[in-house]
Amino acid sequence: MSLYNADNFIEKSKMLGIDLSEEQIEKFIDYYELLVEWNSFMNLTAITDFEEVVLKHFVDSLAIYQIEVFRKNLNSSLIDVGTGAGFPGIPLKIMFPERKITLLDSLNKRVKFLNKIIEKLDMNNIEAVHGRAEDFARQKSHREQYQFCVSRAVANLSTLSELCIPFVREGGYFISYKSEKVREELSAGKKAMEILGGKMEDQLEYQLPGTDMKRSLLIVKKEKSTPVKYPRKAGTPAKEPLQN
Ligand code: SAM
Repeated sequence: MSLYNADNFIEKSKMLGIDLSEEQIEKFIDYYELLVEWNSFMNLTAITDFEEVVLKHFVDSLAIYQIEVFRKNLNSSLIDVGTGAGFPGIPLKIMFPERKITLLDSLNKRVKFLNKIIEKLDMNNIEAVHGRAEDFARQKSHREQYQFCVSRAVANLSTLSELCIPFVREGGYFISYKSEKVREELSAGKKAMEILGGKMEDQLEYQLPGTDMKRSLLIVKKEKSTPVKYPRKAGTPAKEPLQN
């Protein structure tokens, strides 16, 4: 028997249209336990209370399930840029085990944690890689290779577009998890998306299930190939974000 009561998790996931199996719940609990254990000696998460992690990390990551084009492309490849302790990439892998997932982060300590969790949860078709998005997006094996690129809490929309859109193949999607403050970033962000070959197709605004916490998912379709000069060298997208 588990030490944790997952009723709340099950209920909130249902509010997103998700039916988690017992096996999936067990994997999330194993993930939680390792996250808290490793967090005692490295900085992985500011929140450690079970219910809070469930809501603000697990349910928050799974909220992308609301997007039909994401939900229906089950066998598509995905990269999570700046995944940190694995959000949203690991919850998405638990939710969609058949998906091929790449987790990218520039902090090697976090990548070590990710490899441990991949081993513990016995996951296949997933890799954790260490490096900067600006460098990886220039490699043939990663540039324009993914149907989806997702990212949460990494940079403002303009910078993030430059870090993410180069990974997406034409016809694929960059989906950005944002808080309600996104409005301030939208104007410069939309311009950056266009320069990089993307176009904002939709914006889903919602509340985290059972709370008044506002969230947005921005859905950007890759319409044209990204010009070769992007992304610029590591650090430049953050220092000099593309804008109007
Ligand atoms: N996405 C996770 C989440 O929502 O909990 C982590 C967010 S954390 C605030 C930002 C992460 O992005 C860090 O782990 C950092 O190392 C990574 N990061 C920042 N800039 C990056 C870059 N240019 N390329 C790859 N990773 C980057």
